[in-house]
Amino acid sequence: MTSPDSVLIVGASAAGLSTAEALRRHGYQGRLTLLDAGPHLPYDRPPLSKQVLAGAWEPARVQLRDPARLEALQAEFALDEPAVALDAAARAVTTGSGRVLRADALVIATGLTPCRLPGQDGLAGVHVLRTLDDALALRRDLTAGRRLVVVGEGVLGAEVAATARALGLDVTLAGMGRTPLGEQLGDVIGELLSRTHGERGVRLRLGVTVEELTGAGGQVTGVRLAGGELLAADVVVVAVGSRPATGWLEGSDLPGLPGLPGLTPGGGVACDSRCRAAEGIYAVGDVASWQHEGLGRRLRLENRTNATEQAQAVAANILGADRPYTPIPYFWTDQYDVKIQAHGLPSPAAELTVVDGDPEERRFTALYREGGRVTGVIGWNMPKQARVLRQQALGAQSLASA
Ligand SMILES: Cc1cc2nc3c(=O)[nH]c(=O)nc-3n(C[C@H](O)[C@H](O)[C@H](O)COP(=O)(O)OP(=O)(O)OC[C@H]3O[C@@H](n4cnc5c(N)ncnc54)[C@H](O)[C@@H]3O)c2cc1C
Repeated sequence: MTSPDSVLIVGASAAGLSTAEALRRHGYQGRLTLLDAGPHLPYDRPPLSKQVLAGAWEPARVQLRDPARLEALQAEFALDEPAVALDAAARAVTTGSGRVLRADALVIATGLTPCRLPGQDGLAGVHVLRTLDDALALRRDLTAGRRLVVVGEGVLGAEVAATARALGLDVTLAGMGRTPLGEQLGDVIGELLSRTHGERGVRLRLGVTVEELTGAGGQVTGVRLAGGELLAADVVVVAVGSRPATGWLEGSDLPGLPGLPGLTPGGGVACDSRCRAAEGIYAVGDVASWQHEGLGRRLRLENRTNATEQAQAVAANILGADRPYTPIPYFWTDQYDVKIQAHGLPSPAAELTVVDGDPEERRFTALYREGGRVTGVIGWNMPKQARVLRQQALGAQSLASA
């Protein structure tokens, strides 16, 4: 494909903005439009559950770029303009206000939508956390001494529990998994996180199923578990996972490429190894499910580093590079004074071996091994060492044959 004259990016956040910037860096001089359903210029999400929720950062600090850099991008930002339909053959997107935007190349960068519990929408005091406005609304409800129940023991739920506990709330973390992050990082790390949260005074009710939220007079009063136990609450955070924000593509004629169905069963945009979903249509960031050639399988990553790295590949491919995207996955999480870095594909099924430091001292690095091969690296308060270990143990070659 020769360089397009116009590029439309749907979703103006980490992945969408990085794609726009990479296009300009590679010399693209055509029209550039970024569309977003939300009212804000691009901002960063990782601080929302940490510094913003803790009140340590003013909301303005999460802006990804200052006005001068956005101006220099020479792009049109159309905010508060949700895409509602795609005509893939014409590469045209219809927005909620009825605008129809056509471009030579389209990039789908719409991220995720948080899953909700039945009945939560009618109850005050119940929150999800995905946007800046979500974070500010939750922050207003987090007053010391109040009872918070966080439903969901994954990364987001555990981070919210940690931040709220530091603010002096009475916090219960409830979820189906046996330990915080155990389903992502395995039992050894999960047990250590259980101890960390327990020592800080977070009550753990794990390995349980939530049956319903209870309320009185429109205000949440608790979380009922299967079996009848009621966890009393003034505030509830629902962090039970997210779905790719592809509702707007349902009913659209996203035809896919040969062998690609358009959307995956999980709702991600199905792409080939070049992050291409159809001729002239690409996906990037949390929403994109692409064929990782090194791993020989489809992958969809929900993390910040991927949003930036995948954007570089997408921009290059839009401009004709024909380059597969084969990253070593990476995410981090901060809880209290714990900084965890995870590289590769950690899994509960893998065997964990400590390489450096000591889990009892809460400072160590470890390797995940499956079938004798290193598949992941974790650092617990040892970020630099984890990075070095990743380079030694998880070269593209090693991951490719995992
Ligand atoms: C609270 C929180 C904490 C996090 N912490 C970490 C962390 O510590 N480490 C880490 O690695 N990752 C973390 N992440 C994940 C990281 O922020 C995401 O991976 C990253 O934001 C993905 O970028 P994205 O651009 O693909 O999606 P998003 O940032 O979700 O952006 C998608 C954009 O698309 C827009 N959009 C959606 N639908 C439409 C539509 N129909 N039309 C137009 N626009 C639309 C949305 O408004 C949004 O602006 C965290 C995420 C959250 C929410």
